[in-house]
Amino acid sequence: MSKKSCVLIVCPECGNDTDFVEVADDVIITTRYVQNNDSSFTQEDDESQVLGEIKFYCGECNADLSSFHQRFLAMLF
Ligand SMILES: [Zn+2]
Repeated sequence: MSKKSCVLIVCPECGNDTDFVEVADDVIITTRYVQNNDSSFTQEDDESQVLGEIKFYCGECNADLSSFHQRFLAMLF
């Protein structure tokens, strides 16, 4: 087994280390469009604002892994 330099997030309940679910409450998604001369639209900007809490769950057993969420964000590319 090769040892990686990073520490995997592992669900303490079921040992799952591959499937995770992020759930955001109260999200406002605002998208700006510019209308072109030929009446088509071009998307300019896409900003989403999370007003509520962001929860992080195990994808296998749905255990609440929100304490790992910061680490998840740091490793998200
Ligand atoms: Zn789990």
